[in-house]
Amino acid sequence: MNRRKFLQTASVAPVAATAAGGVALAAPAGNATLTSKIVRLNLQHTWTTTMSSSQYRDTLHTTYTRGGITGHGEGAPIVRYHEDAASAQKAVESVRDLLLTADPMQFAKIMAEVFRRVPGEWAGKAAIDIALMDWVGKKLGIPLYSYFGLDPKDTPVTTFSIGIDTPEITKQKTLEAADYPVLKVKVGLATDEPTIEAVRSATKKPLRVDANEGWKDKEEAVRKINWLEKMGVEFIEQPMPAEMLEETRWVRGRVHIPIIADEACQHASDIPKLRECFDGVNVKLDKSGGMLEAYRMLQIAKALGMKTMLGCMISSSVTVTAAAHLSPLVDFSDLDGNLLISNDPFHGVRVEKGKLILPRGPGLGLTPAK
Ligand code: MG
Repeated sequence: MNRRKFLQTASVAPVAATAAGGVALAAPAGNATLTSKIVRLNLQHTWTTTMSSSQYRDTLHTTYTRGGITGHGEGAPIVRYHEDAASAQKAVESVRDLLLTADPMQFAKIMAEVFRRVPGEWAGKAAIDIALMDWVGKKLGIPLYSYFGLDPKDTPVTTFSIGIDTPEITKQKTLEAADYPVLKVKVGLATDEPTIEAVRSATKKPLRVDANEGWKDKEEAVRKINWLEKMGVEFIEQPMPAEMLEETRWVRGRVHIPIIADEACQHASDIPKLRECFDGVNVKLDKSGGMLEAYRMLQIAKALGMKTMLGCMISSSVTVTAAAHLSPLVDFSDLDGNLLISNDPFHGVRVEKGKLILPRGPGLGLTPAK
């Protein structure tokens, strides 16, 4: 048998296959219910990055209920990956039968099957994974940080993000962020210098900068990064387009501050090839497809000696709290998506002087906002 044939045969799971070729998962006693709903989250400020400008975000919210226990999930669709809330909902509904008939304690097996059946739609997958993990934590009666063996005292400080705006509003946003010891500033347009100068006119705090793939020229990227270093910037996130790995490697050899991959790092399999081009990776549940894949990505990055960061999209406390439960693992966090909205349906992780404070209840530990 040749290698290709052997690997194909070996990758078939040794369990009963369904007529559709999928994996059959054992059904426990008791009825399960699943809901999926698109929720419009209103932003406190119009949010502008190199990719878009908006006053609200629609995210997909799910619940998974069995045996009187309800798990909550959420996924924030990412336009860059051709997702929206409707496509995320369609993805969740496409595996409804699997989710209602499977044993939720086999959550890793369920998620492997969801990943196998659903192409793309990472936010939809995250909405399923988070609801299952919340349910599992509640069933076991432990917070999810305990499930992952982590110490809630080890949570990092989170940055507070300042979107692209006029120098006056940028300065006002910087002053409003007085409680946060580290700020993250979005750049990547022609207004980078005035933006950073506006922030610096209001604070001396350490800054982290996200260019969201905004610089297409490697020499411009080096010039900007070296200027940012002089302005007290600690690291730069995704300076160049994700596919420009060779140029990013060239830039990395000519700057001093670390370069973190975001758009270039979506899944675990991306990480080994990023090692020579970036100092670290920014992992987000909405990109990875949930907590299980995000945990795997963080462990791979750490094993490769890279810095780790947890980020988020604009979303409610459901996704941000799920990410925060993994945050004792990381070097940096940017988990402020819930702080940028005005109608969060839940309370979960809190921020005190920038530090993430995890709720102690089982599962995600969420409580309704009302
Ligand atoms: Mg980013």
